[in-house]
Order: sequence, then C-alpha cells, then structure tokens
Amino acid sequence: VSLPCFVANWKMNKTIEETLSYLSLCKKRFSHLPHQDVEVILAPPYTALFSVGKRIKELSLPIGLSAQNLFFKTEGAYTGEISPRMLCEAGCQYVIIGHSERRMQFGETDAIVVEKVQVALDAGLIPILCVGESAKERAEGKTLAVVKRQVKEAFCMDKHRLFDLSRCLVSYEPIWAIGTGRTPMPFEVERVHQEIVQIFHEEGNLHAASRPRILYGGSVNEANVAAFMEEPHVSGMLVGGASLSAETFMNIVQLGM
Ligand code: PEP
Repeated sequence: VSLPCFVANWKMNKTIEETLSYLSLCKKRFSHLPHQDVEVILAPPYTALFSVGKRIKELSLPIGLSAQNLFFKTEGAYTGEISPRMLCEAGCQYVIIGHSERRMQFGETDAIVVEKVQVALDAGLIPILCVGESAKERAEGKTLAVVKRQVKEAFCMDKHRLFDLSRCLVSYEPIWAIGTGRTPMPFEVERVHQEIVQIFHEEGNLHAASRPRILYGGSVNEANVAAFMEEPHVSGMLVGGASLSAETFMNIVQLGM
C-alpha cells in the first residue's frame, strides 16, 4: 500500500538556523498525527541538507530528506555542482529532478533530465520527477502531449531502458500554476494523472506496484489540498510557497492525508 506523500520544496529559502526551528514545530505536530499513515519529505537548499538530516535523526522524525537538484556526474571538474554521492552522504534519500524553474531558468532539457534520473537511481536516490505544461501549451490543448513526452523522455522509455520505477515519484506541476495562486480543477489534474498511469501501462510496466506514485504541485494550500487528494490517481502534493511556514505545511499534510 502506498502512503500519501507530501513534499515541501523550499526552493532558495531558509538559512540553517531557520530550518532547525521549522523542525521543532514539525516535531510537535507529528506527536498528534498517525504518522505511519503518511510520508513527509522536506527539500531544503543544499547548504541546509546535512543539518536538517541530522536534526531529523536527533528528533526521530518520520521525515524524508530531498535535494532540489543534482548534477549528473559522480565527481570531477564541475565547479559549483553537487553529485549524487554527495547528496547521499548529506543524508538525502530523494532528489527533485526537472523542476520547471530549472528547465526554464537554467536551461535544463529532457536530455539532461534523463541523465539526472539515471545517476540518481544508480546512486540509490529516489527521483521526484517534475513535469508540466506552460500556459501557452495548455491554451493550445497540448497538456497531455507535453506531459507524455516529458515522462517518456525522463524514464528513457523510447530506448526500452526502463528503470525500476516503483520507488520513483512523478509530480505533475503545470508551470502556470506554480507560485501564481491559480490551479487546474481537481478533475483536470486527475485526467493528467490518468494519462501518466496510461503511459506506464503502454510501456508494459503493468503492475500497479511498479508504477511511480503521482503527486500534484502548483499553488497547493490549506483550502484546496483536500479536493486534489480526493481524486483517485492523486497520491500526494508537492508544495512550494505554502511549505515555507511549518504550521501551514503541517496543516496541509493533516488536511490531505
Ligand atoms: C513548486 O515549487 O514546485 C511549487 C508547486 O510551488 P508553489 O506551491 O509555490 O506553487
């Protein structure tokens, strides 16, 4: 049985000190939650990963640790980059790959995304793959085609090099919904999630157990989380802005689980 999953993507926010007080509040809230019924993952900036991982252990919190990005080489002359090995050492179990902010502002292509998925899996990290259409693509009716291409490319399906996807996560994040307060209707999210499931069917990855869980991301908040989570193929949420407050994020977890 796969648990509902809630990911907090802090983006380029929070100092080490700020992250530690966040965790103290999580600790309080978790003491009132049936935490075996939910998976919660925090994605701090690189500089805070190690200390967040350490504090999660010290407080015995049922929280996973994710990086927001990685580089697709193991080591070498790549100034400013971080390798999968380094993330594992810092305590990460997960890594977000292909976030639209990286695709748009840092030139990350489908070809780069597939390399990153590969090295993450090789290192034992669980990829949280982000896919989603732009406002223009949506207006042109291309949502399903865009998402299909991104998923197939990222998991290298055309080359029949199917990865073990059972522990992967896919997050459907329409670009126009990220940080804007605008969201698709829950039934529209469900439609895209069904399409993603269909891709795995088509590719012969038939067993429900070997399919990635599929999250939704884009302006999730306390008011809309329950409606998204009611849809049958929505397994969790990736939360950006609303995850910066521990109180709000833990409310979202509680309302959505
Ligand atoms: C995100 O960063 O992936 C995201 C969904 O952000 P927000 O919740 O702020 O829209």
